[in-house]
Amino acid sequence: MSMRSTLLHWYNKEGRTLPWRIRPEDRANGIKAIPYEIWLSEIMCQQTTTTAASAYWHKFLEKWPRVEDLAFAHRDEILSAWAGLGYYARARNLHKCAKIICQEYGGCFPKTEAELLKLPGVGLYTAAAISAICFGAPTNVVDGNVERVISRIFCVKTEMPKAKLEIRQLAAKLADPKQPGDYAQALMDLGAHICKPKNPNCVSCPWTTECGACEAGTMEDYPKRKPKAQRPVRYGAVFYIEDADQIWLQQRPTEGLLGGMMELPGTKWTTAKQTIENLLEQAPFQSNWQQSNVEIKHVFSHFTLLLTVFISRARVDTFEISADLNKLDNYALPSLMRKAIALARTLLPDP
Ligand code: SF4
Repeated sequence: MSMRSTLLHWYNKEGRTLPWRIRPEDRANGIKAIPYEIWLSEIMCQQTTTTAASAYWHKFLEKWPRVEDLAFAHRDEILSAWAGLGYYARARNLHKCAKIICQEYGGCFPKTEAELLKLPGVGLYTAAAISAICFGAPTNVVDGNVERVISRIFCVKTEMPKAKLEIRQLAAKLADPKQPGDYAQALMDLGAHICKPKNPNCVSCPWTTECGACEAGTMEDYPKRKPKAQRPVRYGAVFYIEDADQIWLQQRPTEGLLGGMMELPGTKWTTAKQTIENLLEQAPFQSNWQQSNVEIKHVFSHFTLLLTVFISRARVDTFEISADLNKLDNYALPSLMRKAIALARTLLPDP
């Protein structure tokens, strides 16, 4: 049996059942993949596990069952529904993309990789995945999981990210032009559940006999990587201001990190730790600020942020945005700010 056949055979028996996935037996019953649903799932799965993505996927489809609904939604509502997934540029791109699909493509996703690639937030991987899964196009779907599998099978000696092109070329030779969607999803499943970064389960792998790394016992040496540089640290503070059941929020600038999201008022984030006096000079007003004795730690892709939380009470009429504490789910608060609010609320003295 060819490598394609063994993988597809394994997928038929062992492949995951996911809410957005159309398995071969579903297709045999006439069920088709819906591009809007697949696109949402692919964007969400870039941010989190399939289990966590499932909850968000259901929530989005309940609120916005069609791409037209998402296109007409208010951006803040989308950011709010996305809250907790991180990397909010993806949520902003979801909205932009939905609008373009409606305005320029009559509400139908384009079928080719080239056209899909023109859409905001759709990269090589997503374009190839949508094209293969929804339209049966013979694409080469390569994500991080696939890179790991291919680098191990062929013992790719080049370090990442330089090895990406080489791995793509090797993956293209294996890809199945007849069942591209099933093949792509099979390979993703293999990477996610069998060929894991640590302790790959080679005994259950359909490609054990073809795998160079498995034969040599060097599976975890691939993909080859340079030793990781330490992530830099930035420091800052936020100010939690409460009056009865209202707190002070403000909106971040539209572009940039956490663009358009809500936040507590805060200081600039600096590479060197600031003194308490420096931090308090940046407070929205003078007050008898109470300082948290622990910092909030949040890991972004390019740096780690340590935030001190200061707490005070003030009158609501000074607030930039007055947010009801019991309805914070209605605000597009990133998890960093939710952590800060949760900490502040444990510390706030009784009025
Ligand atoms: S044999 Fe092991 S290392 Fe090789 S592809 Fe399968 S799970 Fe990965």
